[in-house]
Amino acid sequence: MEWPVNEVQQSIIADECEDEAINTGLEFVQEFTEEVKRNVEPIEVARNPFSHPWEEGNLVLVVNGVKLHLHRFMLTLSSPVFNTMLKSESKETSNAEITLPGKDADDILNLLKQLYPQERDEITMDNVERFLKLAEEYQIKTVLDLCATCLRNEPKTKDNAMKILLLVQKYRLSYVGDDCRNVLAKLSLQRLEKYKEFSDLNGENLRAILLPGMRRLEKTVKELSPQVSGMVAFAMWLSSQGRKDMMWCPVHIPNGKPRVSIRECLQTCPVCEKVIESLASNTIERQHRAGKGLLKSIASSFEYVYTDFKDDHFDSNFNSVVKNMFDLVD
Ligand SMILES: [Zn+2]
Repeated sequence: MEWPVNEVQQSIIADECEDEAINTGLEFVQEFTEEVKRNVEPIEVARNPFSHPWEEGNLVLVVNGVKLHLHRFMLTLSSPVFNTMLKSESKETSNAEITLPGKDADDILNLLKQLYPQERDEITMDNVERFLKLAEEYQIKTVLDLCATCLRNEPKTKDNAMKILLLVQKYRLSYVGDDCRNVLAKLSLQRLEKYKEFSDLNGENLRAILLPGMRRLEKTVKELSPQVSGMVAFAMWLSSQGRKDMMWCPVHIPNGKPRVSIRECLQTCPVCEKVIESLASNTIERQHRAGKGLLKSIASSFEYVYTDFKDDHFDSNFNSVVKNMFDLVD
């Protein structure tokens, strides 16, 4: 293509180019503005599939200024509360506009999206409580069941089991939280009482959590009791073999051989009680305390301790602990 040569033609072309440049620039600015507009729309509106009438919608809910275009039958079928509300407020209006005062638009939008399967967002541990609160208020069983499924599928740990169980309890969900109870039943009472929600548990959940532990404890104490008694008798025999100067109870434990059960010894005879106490005190070890210098070494060269290794010990508290154990067995 050849370029025009005369001045008039040059001028015309220059003008056209300028116009085109301006137009192109304007189009670009317009497009850019639209793009910016799309991106800065409020989240709840951008995610709102009900912002315009669709599929012959015949109901508008207005929540905090946000309009939600819906279908009357979807709400009346899903919620007895909406059913009553819609019947009473707009019997003769086919395209009713109803305001829900005091509600969060985002929460109501998310709830209503659950009624339209194609619009559903996932219910997660982060939002399940908000869903439960509204689903209960509007008695929407579908959403309550979806929440129950979310809570059921969540892997249970000691960090979430109490919270999940209380949600199940509060909203009387179809899922009863057996796996939460199982996780909690394995914890000590001391640990359970650290949950701030512990006192909110109802009787049924408390029984389910506490009874297994109590049964386990009772069984263990029953099994432990004769074993401990046997160990005490054995310790007496060992002492009688190794220490000829031990003082025994002439009635119940002559020469270190019990004639009655250790339980009876402890519960009925003060002399036997002293004998058993002496078993513990006889395990005192003489520990050399390392000191620097002769004088210091002589001044504190020995100290007396009962057998004590990390958490294990055998000390003067033994008698009262064993007595308590015998009491628990009854
Ligand atoms: Zn005695």
